[in-house]
Amino acid sequence: MAAHIHQFLCLKDNFGVLVHDPSTRATAAVDAPEAAPILAALAARKWELTDILITHHHYDHVQGIAGLKTKFPRARVIGPAKEAAKIGPLDIAVGEDDHVKTGMLEAKVIEVPGHTSGHVAYWFTREDILFAGDTLFAMGCGRGFEEPPAVLYHSLMKLAALPGETQVYCGHEYSLANARFALTVDPSNALLKARAGEVARQREAGEFTLPTTIAIELATNPFLRADDPAIQAGLGMAGADPAAVFTELRERKNRF
Ligand code: ZN
Ligand code: FE
Repeated sequence: MAAHIHQFLCLKDNFGVLVHDPSTRATAAVDAPEAAPILAALAARKWELTDILITHHHYDHVQGIAGLKTKFPRARVIGPAKEAAKIGPLDIAVGEDDHVKTGMLEAKVIEVPGHTSGHVAYWFTREDILFAGDTLFAMGCGRGFEEPPAVLYHSLMKLAALPGETQVYCGHEYSLANARFALTVDPSNALLKARAGEVARQREAGEFTLPTTIAIELATNPFLRADDPAIQAGLGMAGADPAAVFTELRERKNRF
């Protein structure tokens, strides 16, 4: 049986996500932005929390851990070894190429430094589902808080190399603002224009704009398109190193 995924909002614009394995009834929460809505989502489905997969140490991704552990003391907290000191006690500390299991579901850990130095993504290879945290967003990417832009760019290229049909879940619902910025640097991209319209319609209707796919991001996300001649020309950087173009895109987005 396939994995069941349930996505819902926490805090203002953070996503809570539950990954459920129907064959064993194991259930993982991806990040812990807020305990109450995650516990409510579990209770509504009569699912028991077995694992908490942490992508990075920021408060809006870990503050729910204690509340989840109070209700489910046996749930294992899994997170990046490099951020263990900041996240708090981890039951399993992971790094590049480690495999973590939720029931029969298995995720490969991909280190994606940039937004934070120890940030990891979880790729469920058989289901082809990626949990990207705050590294990759729909038509956007996270801010490079703890590493230089070139490091974040390299991490994004690792995710961009996954299969095009990979379903991508992200830490935040930022698509509307990301689309507005993307259009300023890639204004002649017909697929981007169509997607910006679709995202506006979805948000108007109260729908989520995620998951996305790697193929959709490759076609519409300017941060994955730093090698695109039209984007480079628009920035006055024709032929420049894609990492330098990415750096310029990231700085413009910071000011946007
Ligand atoms: Zn963050
Ligand atoms: Fe966040």
